[in-house]
Amino acid sequence: MYMRRVVKLNIPLKQELVETVFEYNKICNKHLSEITRLSINDNYSKKKLHKNLYDKIRKEHPKFPAALIQTARDVACEMFKNKDITKLKKIKKNKNSSIRYDLRTSKCFLDSGELQLTTTQRRKKYQFTLPKYFRKYKDWIVKGCSLGFNRKYCYVNIVVENEVEKPDLDNPRVLGIDRGIKNIIACSDGNLMKGSELVAKKRNYAYLRKQLQEVGTPSAKRKLKKIRMAERRFTSNYNHILSKRIAEMDYDVFAIEDLDIKTNHKANGKKGKWFNRIINNWSRNQLVDFLTYKAEERGKQTIKINPHKTSQRCSKCGYIKKSNRKKGLFKCKKCGFQENADINASKNILQLGSSVLEQAVCQPAKCNITPFADSNSYKPLPLRRGS
Ligand SMILES: [Zn+2]
Repeated sequence: MYMRRVVKLNIPLKQELVETVFEYNKICNKHLSEITRLSINDNYSKKKLHKNLYDKIRKEHPKFPAALIQTARDVACEMFKNKDITKLKKIKKNKNSSIRYDLRTSKCFLDSGELQLTTTQRRKKYQFTLPKYFRKYKDWIVKGCSLGFNRKYCYVNIVVENEVEKPDLDNPRVLGIDRGIKNIIACSDGNLMKGSELVAKKRNYAYLRKQLQEVGTPSAKRKLKKIRMAERRFTSNYNHILSKRIAEMDYDVFAIEDLDIKTNHKANGKKGKWFNRIINNWSRNQLVDFLTYKAEERGKQTIKINPHKTSQRCSKCGYIKKSNRKKGLFKCKKCGFQENADINASKNILQLGSSVLEQAVCQPAKCNITPFADSNSYKPLPLRRGS
């Protein structure tokens, strides 16, 4: 099993790097419009793109390195992968969006702090100091990097890879995790993490944003931007703390709701809109992403579970009914089982997670199984392989 991480570095702003980014994106856009043109009548291929464009681009950008033209072409092709043909025309790279380097056009020595990049002025060397936090990756294999810049510096994201042992899942201890508003995290072992602090802070930010939006002056807009950044930092910090706390729990596998799957939150009550806004603002996937990699680092695994009906189902007898749940309390209409509603949901997630593992067909963090069906029967759990 391979583990990938991104090492983030800053290097001083250099003329040749900025030029390279501009030209690279220009060339990428030329490929993009050629692909659009070709795919109207016909399919495109890298070979055809090369034939049609390469000489022309060479003439227009005589100094630009050939290897980077190739990467720009590959990036352009990838941007079209799995895209809807009718929306193709809208695909365009920003002139200063970050660009990709592969191993032919870049070389990075994390150990000695040297970065080599192919630029419009040939290959250049740059020195950097690896931040303390990233030093644990200094022996990992570098797979490539991306380069971007802002007003103050250039930033380089280096992708590194390392082989790790696959976690031993013969007899895993699984934890089901449900996410909500009142209890930001509810665990199947009864652990609850309250979300009142987060919600209060989010509300405060929302209020400030609304006020500033109404003012609408340039200085208010600047302030607004600052607040957005502060909110982002707050959320990311919160998610880091939370995911670390979970990852360090004494379990091998964490089964967590997959929020990518669109469920009808309105079914949970009339507060749908507000609920969705809070959840959306709470960077939907950040917590799962953080948890996934923090778990990996500890030799653990995360699996995503479709949360459909998990809040309405009795975790004891399997009976599904909407009225089983009344606000924070779950009370089964059939067997009388009582439990905190969020903990009951997390127990359902645990059951789904355990069945996924029993099937043992899933890739870490990519599981998707069919949710509980509307039925009173409990066994066996409905299950389907998915990606
Ligand atoms: Zn029941």
